[in-house]
Amino acid sequence: MKKPPFQKVLIANRGEISVRIQQTLREMGIIACAVYSEPDRTALHTLQADEAYPLGPGPSSESYLRIDKIIEAARTAKANAIHPGYGFLSENADFAQAVEDAGLVFIGPTADSMRRMGNKLSARRIMEAAGVPIVPGLTEAVSDPAAAIEAAEEIGYPVLLKAASGGGGKGMRVVHSSDEMASAVERTQSEALNAFSDASIFVEKFIERPRHLEVQVLGDGKGEVLHLFERECSIQRRHQKVIEESPSPSIDETIRRKLCEAAVDAARAVDYRGAGTVEFIADEDDNFYFLEMNTRLQVEHPVTEEVVGVDLVAAQVRIAAGGGLPWKQEDLHQRGHAIEFRVYAEDPWKNFAPSLGTVHRLRMPVGAGVRNDRGLREGYQVPVYYDPMLAKLIVKGETREMAIARGRRALADYRILGFIHNLPLHRWVIEQPEFIEGRYSTRFLEERFDPSELASNLSAEEKDALAAALALVEAGVGETSAGQGDTAPELSEWGKKGRAEMIGRCL
Ligand code: ADP
Repeated sequence: MKKPPFQKVLIANRGEISVRIQQTLREMGIIACAVYSEPDRTALHTLQADEAYPLGPGPSSESYLRIDKIIEAARTAKANAIHPGYGFLSENADFAQAVEDAGLVFIGPTADSMRRMGNKLSARRIMEAAGVPIVPGLTEAVSDPAAAIEAAEEIGYPVLLKAASGGGGKGMRVVHSSDEMASAVERTQSEALNAFSDASIFVEKFIERPRHLEVQVLGDGKGEVLHLFERECSIQRRHQKVIEESPSPSIDETIRRKLCEAAVDAARAVDYRGAGTVEFIADEDDNFYFLEMNTRLQVEHPVTEEVVGVDLVAAQVRIAAGGGLPWKQEDLHQRGHAIEFRVYAEDPWKNFAPSLGTVHRLRMPVGAGVRNDRGLREGYQVPVYYDPMLAKLIVKGETREMAIARGRRALADYRILGFIHNLPLHRWVIEQPEFIEGRYSTRFLEERFDPSELASNLSAEEKDALAAALALVEAGVGETSAGQGDTAPELSEWGKKGRAEMIGRCL
C-alpha cells in the first residue's frame, strides 16, 4: 500500500460531512480525528471517529467556530492537517492562516484566495478582469439610496441589493422601483452589518426566473485548473438548495462547454488551490453570469463524485499534501445521472421552519445506485444549535429517467420517525411534471409548492407518527422535549398551533 499523505487529520466540523470525510481518510490509511460540542457527545460523527476531541458548549460560537480550541485540539491530537468541511470556519481566511501559522496543513485554498473570493464585490472585479461574465451591476459598494437609484436606473428594475460579505442566502433584497429604494438600502445595510459585520452592499440585476448552475473545479495552486462539470441546483427554498443534480437537464453541450471554461478561467484568475465551486445563474435565454466562488467542498459534491466517478475529498487531501492534481482533464467524463435530496429537520407545512425531536426510528434506503451521507442515527436528538440538514440521499442511474425512478423508490423506502422533516417534500417534487421534464427555475418551490398536496405522500406509519407528534404539540409538549434541557429556546414563535392545524388537515 502507498504511504498515506498524512498520518492524522483533524476534521473541524460535525454531522454528515465529518462522517463523510472520516470515511475517505480511513480509506487512505489516515487516522481521522473529530471534534465535538457538548450536545454532540454521542453524535454519529463523534462515535465513528478514530479519535474525538471536545470543544465546549453547544453554541457554535463556543465550539465549532472557536479557532483557538480547534487548533489546540489538533495539537493535542498531533494531527498533521485540518479539513474544514463546509460552513463553520471553512471559508474563514483567518482560520486558514492560523492553521498554517500553527505549522499544520490547511486542506483548502490559501488564505489569500479565500479573502479575494470571499467578498462578492472583490470577486466580481476579479471575474470582470478575467473576462468571466458577471451579473450586470456594480463592482463597488453603494452607501446611499441616491447612488443605488442611479445604478438601478442604468441596470433596469427589478434589481437585487446584496451584501458584499453575505452568504447562506441572507442579506439580499429585491427592489422593484425607486420609491422602495431608501428603506431597502437601509434595511439591507443594517442586516448586513448584523449578520456579516460588514454593511457594504451593492446593486445587481435581479434575474426573474434564473437557474442556478455551478461548476466543480480543482486547482493545484500554480495555475493548473481542472473542472469536473456542472451541477444544477435550482430547487431551492429561501435561496437555499434542497435538490441538486448532475448533469444539468437544462443546458446543451455548447453551453456546458462555455460554462466549464468560464469556471476554469475564474479559478485560474486566483491561482486556485484545492476543490472549489464556481456558481453561476442563467437567465431564460441561457445567458449565464458568475455569482460567486465557494472556496471549499460543497454540500452537493456527491452528485459530481457519482457522475464523474471520483472521490473529491481524497483529491483535496492529495493536493494539500503537495501531490498536485490527481487527474488530467481528458480523463474526466460525465457518465449517467445523479440526484441529491437534502434531508432537513424542517417543516414543509410551516414554511420550512426548523423542527426538533428525537429519531425514534430510522430506515435508510439501500440498493444499487443509492448512497446515504448522514449524520444521524436512531436515538439521535436533533440539536437546536446547528444547521437542520441531517443527511443527503444521493441516487444514480444510467439516465436521468432511471435516476428519477430510483429516487422515487428510495424516497418511498426512507423512514425517519420522531419529528417533522422534509422527506414528504422530496416525494412531492419528484412527481411534478416540471421536475420530470427538467424545466424548473429557482422560483419553482415558491410558485408551485402547496403543502396541502403532501398528505398523499405519507405512509400509514408516517401518518401515525405525525398524529402522535401532533398530539404532543397540542398537549404543549411538542419538540421542545428533545433533550435540549434548559437551553431549549421558546418555540412558540414557530406557530405550533398553525402547523398543528395544517398537519391535522392532511391526516
Ligand atoms: P449566497 O452567498 O448567500 O449563497 P448567492 O449570490 O450565491 O448568495 O445567491 C444565492 C441564491 O440567490 C442563488 O442561487 C439564486 O437563487 C438567488 N440569486 C442570487 N443573485 C440573484 C440575482 N441577481 N437574480 C436572481 N436571483 C439571484
